[in-house]
Amino acid sequence: MDKSDFYSVLGIARDSSQDEIKKAYRKLAMKYHPDKNPDDSDSMKKMKDINEAYAVLSDPSKKQLYDTYGHRGLEGYTQEDIFSTVDFDSILKGFGLGDLFGSREGFFSGFSSRSRGNRSKNVGQGADLRYDLEIDINDVVHGLDKQIEITYKDSCLECNSTGAENGSVDSCTYCDGAGQVIAEQRSGFTVMRQVSPCLHCGGKGVQVKDRCKKCEGLGKLDVNKKINITIPAGSDDGHAIKIEGEGGAGSSRFGDLYVVVSVKEDVRFFRKGSDVYTEENVDSILAATGGSIDIEGLRGTLLMNLPQGSQNGDKVIIEESGLPEIGSSMVGRHIVILKLITPTGLNKKQLELLEQFNNI
Ligand SMILES: [Zn+2]
Ligand SMILES: [Zn+2]
Repeated sequence: MDKSDFYSVLGIARDSSQDEIKKAYRKLAMKYHPDKNPDDSDSMKKMKDINEAYAVLSDPSKKQLYDTYGHRGLEGYTQEDIFSTVDFDSILKGFGLGDLFGSREGFFSGFSSRSRGNRSKNVGQGADLRYDLEIDINDVVHGLDKQIEITYKDSCLECNSTGAENGSVDSCTYCDGAGQVIAEQRSGFTVMRQVSPCLHCGGKGVQVKDRCKKCEGLGKLDVNKKINITIPAGSDDGHAIKIEGEGGAGSSRFGDLYVVVSVKEDVRFFRKGSDVYTEENVDSILAATGGSIDIEGLRGTLLMNLPQGSQNGDKVIIEESGLPEIGSSMVGRHIVILKLITPTGLNKKQLELLEQFNNI
């Protein structure tokens, strides 16, 4: 079955900002959420599509893959991976809608029970991180082993993540430590109760008197970590490598790291998939007679056979001398575009011979 385009599912343009993507998602989720359409299987299906589109487009590395390769670009992800980066609950909470991953059986009918089980494990998982890495054409040919350094936030042990000097905090005086405030509004016989987080303590219920000096009251510290990564040969722009457990710190487990590759443009080799193109200057007399010349290839010198009577702009194909295809033993082609050059500075003898040739 063909999958719908994620942008049309959300009804947005391809160049929409993250803010617009989020707005579009909320609007549609309000309309199709199962709490609003009980037992309506069409709405459920629609909601699942909306969720998936949002999960992909709201995550920079998945979005880039999708933008470049369409649905095919996401084949390396399990459904679980696709949804792992989105906290749907917090996005929808403001609307009083229920937990999407709750007990409503069948809502995620396309999912394995494992993915629902893992959902609860994601609580306490650190943030996923993205690391952009630029490589050159040589790295595409041979692959690349590299050590990178990432920075993530980890709990400050000095203050036990409280942000307070020695970890000593007081109850918030505005909400008495509850973290939330309740406003009551009477209208006739009805009483409206509205619960909202306490703005003074940000819902934490505690107040910091003296800030922790080590983390300056943030409760978190920047940690640098060196990680060895391997970029496979044949990588292309937007290729993302997932490194499990090397993301940000969480209370129960680390998030994942996504290394997103971009390939530097090369002045000599122009890439098209696994094929490379180069332009070669060829003496027009040699082009007329045919012959062979040495050219610079991706892996050293290549011998190019020049057919007799080659013309300016002709292409000569050298098989299996292009770029490797990722995850396969296939190698693309090196395609040479000929640029014929008329010889200059000929000596007397050479000119005489050419004139004789013209008169034959
Ligand atoms: Zn601290
Ligand atoms: Zn408070």
